[in-house]
Amino acid sequence: MANILIIYTGGTIGMVHDPKTGVLFPFDFKQIKDNVPELQRLNHQLTVHSFDPIIDSSDMNPGIWVDIAKLIESNYEQYDGFVVLHGSDTMAFTSSALSFMLEGLAKPVVLTGSQLPIDEIRTDAKENLITAIMIAAEKHEGKAVTPEVCIYFDYQLLRGNRATKYNSAKFEAFQSPNYPLLAEAGVHFSFFETYIAKTSNKPLKVHKDLDTSIAVLKLYPGINQQMVDTVLQSDCKAIIMETYGAGNTSTEAWFLNALKKTIDSGKLILDISQCRGGSVELGRYETSRQLKDMGVVSGFDMTFEAAVTKLMFLLGSGKPIDVVARMLPLNLRGELTEN
Ligand code: ASP
Repeated sequence: MANILIIYTGGTIGMVHDPKTGVLFPFDFKQIKDNVPELQRLNHQLTVHSFDPIIDSSDMNPGIWVDIAKLIESNYEQYDGFVVLHGSDTMAFTSSALSFMLEGLAKPVVLTGSQLPIDEIRTDAKENLITAIMIAAEKHEGKAVTPEVCIYFDYQLLRGNRATKYNSAKFEAFQSPNYPLLAEAGVHFSFFETYIAKTSNKPLKVHKDLDTSIAVLKLYPGINQQMVDTVLQSDCKAIIMETYGAGNTSTEAWFLNALKKTIDSGKLILDISQCRGGSVELGRYETSRQLKDMGVVSGFDMTFEAAVTKLMFLLGSGKPIDVVARMLPLNLRGELTEN
């Protein structure tokens, strides 16, 4: 029997339809409990902490990530695992953020939600919830089987900082394009041990300072100088540049000069690819060699979600920008594959 803390933040899983307008809005946990009598048959001690207010995850923000991390910290010893109920829209941002904030995690933090509300006949919520609890409770020789932040959705367990929401209509809402699944739930559970993080033997350290001074520059053929300058010159410390293919950009002089000027002014530029699969390889093509030479930082195969939250975490640590630039391409929590 395991002790599991369920942290309810909101999301479709617990939403109901407004009788007048028909729109979905978040509702309290009782709604979930009443619709899943199976929870009582689980051989685990379940405690629920509901956030107030309960939100659609489009309203998620770093302040709430800190609250979730604090809640896990203050309950860390009493519980064997944590299940975070969350809307799927920004779930991969929250799971990425938590992975960086919870250093030395030795217990499972499993995020889940659903595409259909729990009271709908075809809902995916029941299976997601029940199995997420079972995964958070799973132990082998007294140790948690999945001691990391992960997402459970549609029979698949994904590493939290590798996952990305790719589909708003399929029950399979998430993919992990650059990292294998951690587990699959069929008739039996299959845990893919080689890909699951090893249990940390360091104490849990919770990082609560996140710095949101970042900007995002997504490239497209025809992007104009004014647009580029507006982003690069905005009030930020770092820019995530979403590039083409293996990290390539235009080689037009005005564009490269603008990047160089930005780096020389003390800002950091992180290069991640618009491609879901594969990795940034600065210097593979002429169109990225110049980026490497001027000090653009490679994000390798990080997801956008991991890049955003890793930057907030590293900038929040108060380290100087050159140290942040050196740490970004390092694999801190299994979020990237260095090449
Ligand atoms: N809009 C919802 C949310 O993210 C979608 C979901 O839960 O799947 O809260």
